[in-house]
Amino acid sequence: MDKTLLYEGKAKKIYSIHGKPDIFLQEFKNSATAFNGIKKDEIEGKGILNNKISSIFFEYLISNGIPTHFLEKISDNEMLVKKVSILKIEVVCRNIAAGSLVKRYGFVEGTELKKPIIEFYYKSDELGDPLFTEAHIYELGLATESELNIIKELTLKINKLLKDFLIQKKIKLVDFKLEFGKDSKGEIILADEISPDTCRFWDADTNKKLDKDNFRFDLGNLTDAYIEILNRISN
Ligand code: 5GP
Repeated sequence: MDKTLLYEGKAKKIYSIHGKPDIFLQEFKNSATAFNGIKKDEIEGKGILNNKISSIFFEYLISNGIPTHFLEKISDNEMLVKKVSILKIEVVCRNIAAGSLVKRYGFVEGTELKKPIIEFYYKSDELGDPLFTEAHIYELGLATESELNIIKELTLKINKLLKDFLIQKKIKLVDFKLEFGKDSKGEIILADEISPDTCRFWDADTNKKLDKDNFRFDLGNLTDAYIEILNRISN
């Protein structure tokens, strides 16, 4: 496959494919980063695990009517995706207090939220991905009100679908980050990845962390946690 590197992020590379104008190739890297790139490591096998886990989640969401960029997993660490332009908005959805919710507002970690909380962050490495409001989004011209309504509606649907799926696997969906893109028809679809890099997953019985917090806070072995997630969602 003849390809050209278009974009390299912290965890993935995006390529255009010669002769396929509507498709990108998304490659998952082994790099692990945290705190806006301050903490870094290479973890053998992480790209393969995230590609597998993400593919399973995308297939599940698609089969439940969610529009996504996922087309096909084509190798251990690569998937084909629809070409989209990514909106510069990181959408975080929370069910249980953890991470920055605890740090910023003093919630007790592990507290179940009455309703899912949706937050928006400006996707900007230079600015350190600041939390922002809908008014900022409109003022910056990142999305229209009707586009943001679609994003919020899709996020709540995705949250419900993932939560219901994961609890059957004895996993609590604590929180997660989504990115959306606009396809060639101008439609808003789910993009990026859904993996233990971008979600907090806790064991339903013990609250053991099975996600990137193991790397962020040196809590345990990242690979073991990701393998555990893959095994549970595959069965
Ligand atoms: P928090 O705001 O608590 O740090 O993160 C909330 C959720 O969003 C967590 O599941 C975290 O993994 C995800 N998240 C937020 N920002 C990022 C980001 O820049 N990269 C990744 N991989 N995940 C993020």
